[in-house]
Order: sequence, then structure tokens, then C-alpha cells
Amino acid sequence: MEKSSLKVGYQGEKGAYSETALHELFKETAAEAVPFRTSYEVVDAMKKGRIDVGLLPIDNSIVGNITHTYDLLVENRLTITREIIIPIHHNLLVFPGVQSDQIRKIYSHPAAIAQCEVFLRGLPLAEIIPTYDTAGSAKMIADKKLTDTAAIAGDRAAELYGLEKLKQQIEDYPHNQTRFVLISSENISYKQDDLAPWKTTIVFNTLDQPGMLYKCLGVIEKYNLNMTMLTSRPHKTEPWKFNFFAEIDGHAESETLKKAFEEIRGMTGFLHLLGSYHRYEAQGLYSLEAAAGEKRINVTAPLYSLERHPDATVIRVDGVQIGGGTFTVIAGPCSVEGRHQMIESAKISKEQQAHILRGGAFKPRTSPYSFQGLGEEGLKLLKEAGRQYNMPVITEVIAPEDVELVASYSDILQIGARNMQNFVLLQEVGRCKKPVFLKRGMMATVKELLLSAEYILAKGNADVILCERGIRTFETATRNTLDISAIPLLKEKTHLPVFVDPSHATGIPSLIEPVAKAAAAIGADGIMVEVHFNPAAALSDADQALSEKQFASLMASLKKMQLFM
Ligand code: PEP
Ligand code: MN
Repeated sequence: MEKSSLKVGYQGEKGAYSETALHELFKETAAEAVPFRTSYEVVDAMKKGRIDVGLLPIDNSIVGNITHTYDLLVENRLTITREIIIPIHHNLLVFPGVQSDQIRKIYSHPAAIAQCEVFLRGLPLAEIIPTYDTAGSAKMIADKKLTDTAAIAGDRAAELYGLEKLKQQIEDYPHNQTRFVLISSENISYKQDDLAPWKTTIVFNTLDQPGMLYKCLGVIEKYNLNMTMLTSRPHKTEPWKFNFFAEIDGHAESETLKKAFEEIRGMTGFLHLLGSYHRYEAQGLYSLEAAAGEKRINVTAPLYSLERHPDATVIRVDGVQIGGGTFTVIAGPCSVEGRHQMIESAKISKEQQAHILRGGAFKPRTSPYSFQGLGEEGLKLLKEAGRQYNMPVITEVIAPEDVELVASYSDILQIGARNMQNFVLLQEVGRCKKPVFLKRGMMATVKELLLSAEYILAKGNADVILCERGIRTFETATRNTLDISAIPLLKEKTHLPVFVDPSHATGIPSLIEPVAKAAAAIGADGIMVEVHFNPAAALSDADQALSEKQFASLMASLKKMQLFM
């Protein structure tokens, strides 16, 4: 008779993170995934023989222990037979068409709510309602067609229940991961083999005597064992007594572990083996440490650094490559002033073979009385000009609440020098899927520029371009002073593309071409220059805008340097 596939119970509805973990764990063996409302029901079904094993979440990298699972392990004397760690990325899901200002309630599992605490603080008007499951919350919205409610859940839940992702990667830390354990109610003990590193989980308690925990840990030290985790849970029937859970590298059948456990048991009276199982070591995303071993990555180094990410970041927008050995020219007017001005300036930029079109719609002006930009109207005109000349577009965003709007029109989001340390804005563009062009503040150090980039990277957006645009010095003959050495310096420190803006750096048209050449020669990945079809009539930065002729000369010089394919 053919053996039917293993029945594996998990907590949650279809589309829950547990189900994703289950598919990952059983990608090579047949298993039937059986959903249950609660972890308790998983254990109960297992004890009654309705399922073979269960998969439960046990630790999360942001919120720590899933304490309920620890309690179930002890109360039911369960055995851990396998473990798996998966990355967890939460979305704010809504019924299709629902806008953020309609949301009055947010449903999710308490652990997911805790992982998005900072994000949820930004939505003070919504009532946060804990439910039994992330995917279950999504299902509820879909089933009841709720238009005033959002759910925090994963990609699979969005797909399964046809909900829209209003916001992605809303977890407070980008490397959010959860560890799940496969549990059995039978006392399974796997024979030690050489296939993979083993680890063992034990639970013990201590007598109420001074220094008892210290003595137990002393045994672990005496046998030179590597303890990777220690946590405690209250002993429910005896107040203020605790059970200690420890994870130790090695198999319980090995000589040293056997001796160590015997000694601890002798001192405490209670040591229960929860299981020996293979330590989870997956490829790629799933195990930063494993990847680090192969590529010598320092997983604790900043995300911007070459120690963390040795290969140059390459960004592709609509067929234009940024970084990784190309030289990219961004050109266009300082501000979008109207259809005619934008189309004519785009035409010049395209004819001279600029790759990306710029134009400011929200302008951060020094004086409140200067032209502030056309706002959304400007975004529309910029997009129209980009479409007409088949160029991706870039424009500045100056307020966190505008990020969504600007991202709906622009291919790249520019953060201006005056906003380089607007941390709320940096986090908001970090949650966005569009590349970010981050300009160095006029009074910021190179380190501060890199740390501002880190704010964006830490929110999950890997596509950041840095731009040196001149800093303030005692010199007033030029608008700013280009810190030319910052370019090779940044190249020594980061994998992110580095651009130069010779227009704002010098403020003088005749200097823009030689400075652009210097930028290319010293290793920049591209430049951003201001070009206007009629510089004298420009509403902002008229003094530094290049005319068609000047821009043509600049591009001819760059072409002579054989920068373009
Ligand atoms: C700009 O690019 O138009 C601009 C305002 O630049 P910066 O932020 O470098 O001053
Ligand atoms: Mn400008």
C-alpha cells in the first residue's frame, strides 16, 4: 500500500506565514498542510492522531520569544524535530480601491502588530485590533468586503484574498525573521549523523538556592559547549519559579552533551530534552550567516558598506542602467514651469542624449516668496515630457506625506540637500519601491550622507544613489565648493552609485562642463545638470542653467572621454 503524505498542522489560515514556512520546509517531500485557528488546536489534533506533526512559530527577530509555543512544548512534553527560519515582510492590505484616509481599524495577529509598532504609531486614528491570524485578518476583509479596515499580512495572503498592498515592508526592521519548529507528540529521537550541524533544546528548572542558575551554566562552560539561546518562562503552578530553555550546539547523544545534562539534572532535579535536530542553514536570503561565510560578508556592518555588500549596486530604470560601470546623465530644468518650457527643455536634453529627465515640481526654496513649483500639475507635465521623449524622470519630494503621490508620477525620487537629514522623509522613501537620489546636505559630512542613506536602506529600499552637490565653505566665488575627493572616498566606502551635480556645486555655467569632466575622470557614476530651453527666463536657478549650446558642448566633451557605449 502506498504511504500517504505527511499531515502537517499549522496555525493560521491559508496564506499565513506558517504556511510559507511549511512549504519551504517540505519543498522536497510530500506534505499535506492542515490549517488550524490556534496553536493549541494544532497540538490537540496531533495528540488525537488527526495530523502527524505540527509547525509552530517559536522566535521572532524583532519581538523575541513566541511564549505560547514555549508553554505548549513543556505542558505537552513535545519533541522538536526540525527548525526553519524565514524572512517576514508585512504589508498593509486593504480591499481594492480603499484609500489610507478611509482606514479606521487595523486587524492582525499580536506578534505582527508588535513587529510594526513604529509604523502603526504613524496611524493614530486607526484602532488596532488583535486577531487570531495575519492571513485570517486579510480573509475577513475580503469575505466581508470591509472598506474601513486594513490587515497586516504577507504577500501570499494579499494574493489569495485579492487585497491591495497599500504599503509594503512596514515591519520596523528590514531583517525581520521568524523561526518555526516542527513538533511531534511522539518522543522521536534522531540518530546523530554527519550531515549537518546539530543543535539540542533542553528545558530545566533550578532549586530555590543561591547561585543555582550560575552553577548550571557553569556545567555548560566546563564541557566547552556553545549555548546559543537562553530564555525563561514562568512555572504556572508555582509562582515566581521559572523554567529555563537553552539551545546548545551538538547532539544529545554525543558524549559531552550526555555528561553535561546528567550533571545539570543531578543539581536541579528536572531537565527535559526537547529534541536534537539539524540547525537550519538555508541559502541566500534565509541565512545571512551562511551567505557571509561564502562571500566574507560582515553581517553587522552598515547596509551601505562594502563589507556588507561587496558588489556595486546596479539600478535599472526603464532600460537605463545606473552604477556598475556606466556613466549616466540626468538633465532638465531646475523647475517645471509649464508645458511649453518642460517639453522644449526635454527635447534639448533628449537630442543631446541625456538618459534621464529632471524637473522640480515641489521646490525647497530658501525664500518663502520665491517660486515654489507647480506641485501635482508639475508632476503631470514632467511625466508627459518623459513619455514624449522616452526618458525616465526624476523629481524632488520634500514632505513624507507627498511620497506616495510623487512616486506615482516619477521613476526616481530626489531628496534635496536641504532634506538630507529629514529622517521621517528618508524612512518614508525607504518604504517606497522607487530608486532614491540622495543629495549631500550643504553642511553635512560624508559620514552623515552615508548614515542618511542607511535610513533608506534600513527600511528595505536597496536602490539609493548618492550625489555630491557641493558644500558650504568660506569661498563665495562659487555657489558651493565641490568636494571632489568625496567621490573616490565614497567609492572606497560604499557600493552605492555616486553622482555629481556640477550645476548646484558651482552655480556658474562656464564651470559646469570642466567640473563634469572632472567628475567623470575621478570615477563618478553620472552627473545631474540643469538645462533650460531659455535660461534667461527660468523661474528658478536661472543663473546656472545651461543653454542648448552649452549642454551640447558638455555632452561632446563627455563623449570624447568615451564614457558612453
Ligand atoms: C535641485 O536639484 O533642484 C536642488 C534643489 O538641489 P539641492 O537640493 O542640491 O540644492
Ligand atoms: Mn536647482
